[in-house]
Amino acid sequence: PVVTRFAPSPTGFLHIGGARTALFNWLYARHHGGKALLRIEDTDRARSTEAAIDAILDGLDWLGFDYDETPVFQSQRAGRHAAVAHALLDAGHAYKCFATAEELEAMRAEQREKKLPMRYDGRWRDRDPSEAPEGAPYVVRLKTPTDGETVIEDAVQGKVRVKNAEIDDYILLRSDGTPTYMLAVVVDDHDMGVTHVIRGDDHLNNAFRQLPIYRAMQAIEGGWDEPVYAHIPLIHGADGAKLSKRHGAMGVDAYRDELGLLPEAVFNYLLRLGWGHGDQELFTREEAIAAFDLPAVGKSASRFDFKKLANMNGLYMRDADDARLADLAAPRIAALETGFVADKHRDLLIEAMPSLKARAKNLDELAAGALFLFRERPLPMDEKAQGLLTSDARSLLHDILAELKVCSDWTSEQLEASLKDMAERKDLGLGKLAQPLRAALTGQATSPGIFDVLVLLGREESLARIAAQAV
Ligand code: GLU
Repeated sequence: PVVTRFAPSPTGFLHIGGARTALFNWLYARHHGGKALLRIEDTDRARSTEAAIDAILDGLDWLGFDYDETPVFQSQRAGRHAAVAHALLDAGHAYKCFATAEELEAMRAEQREKKLPMRYDGRWRDRDPSEAPEGAPYVVRLKTPTDGETVIEDAVQGKVRVKNAEIDDYILLRSDGTPTYMLAVVVDDHDMGVTHVIRGDDHLNNAFRQLPIYRAMQAIEGGWDEPVYAHIPLIHGADGAKLSKRHGAMGVDAYRDELGLLPEAVFNYLLRLGWGHGDQELFTREEAIAAFDLPAVGKSASRFDFKKLANMNGLYMRDADDARLADLAAPRIAALETGFVADKHRDLLIEAMPSLKARAKNLDELAAGALFLFRERPLPMDEKAQGLLTSDARSLLHDILAELKVCSDWTSEQLEASLKDMAERKDLGLGKLAQPLRAALTGQATSPGIFDVLVLLGREESLARIAAQAV
């Protein structure tokens, strides 16, 4: 059975690249009926924070990724990591290196000068530890193969080869006995039963360093099957440059809070970022699970396109449930309009939602578009609305007011019939009436359909707003 894991380091927020990695891992596990696991790689105690852990968990939850077991915290497994290092040491697959910091600095200086590759030269690989001074500190290094090459059949990148001579005998345990990241990842993946390692292609080089641990442990105790690797290309900005904040390299929480996007839109956008399924653009969660697989993940870096994400969000807004949108928009409306009281106005907001959501690409636009419903008189007029309220327009409002006052039924159909009738009598287009009417009713030059606006505001409020502008 397939087991995947998402393994973020909580040194910062859950950024968009991490979220996509999480998505691909989660989808792959769900597609194959396997397990999706989460591991918090908090071994860098100085840089890992509680706040970052919370932000990551919160972001994953917002995007709807559920995990099949409680998260593993890597820092709690240091003892197990060290035990594996010692097993490697005892079996001769690792060795103690007593080289001092000065010695290694001199080695590097020489390599730099001779333009040799900068890597540990294996000076303690074949030496007897008894040659070291009594009680001298040491690190434990992995004895990596020196001849031949390692080939990885990567599920995204295809066949990738690296000459073994290029892989140094890197450190497994530091002199204080703490495990390195490279060791911890392999031990945890093995212990968690991970079958597929899906991660950013900035980790491809690490795979060549991690595999020798599997092979050595397999030789020692068996049962250390190599995982399938899938290294997915990074996300670049729309201009092709490395993703920066300007490009959208911010936390997923900012997509929710600052941009006011819906999680299903971000989910869908991330899904399409580097993965394709024919020309289908929109996927429900179920469709994504059914269709997702690794062979269709592209090999080249994808470009993050805010505009596309914004448009996709607009599409999802139209489909979203009215009550849910009302509750999401409510705090944003309250922040802009003190007259808005969520409990009192919820029903009206839900009623207005079909016309409001059709005109908004995100929750902020939705909130801004809803304000006119909750404003108190005198209604503030924006500049464009003011421009529409010429003296001719104001006297037209006078007639409209008279017409609407006698309208028998305050329904969209009735209101439309009487205004059409009036437009005909005056030999004006309906738009000529709608423009000043819209300005008077909403204080804006754009709004939902004018008859919807009249109905939503109700008879009394509509007539009062019109009266306030009519002469
Ligand atoms: N913790 C690593 C990172 O956040 C990922 C390690 C892995 O996926 O193997 O980049």
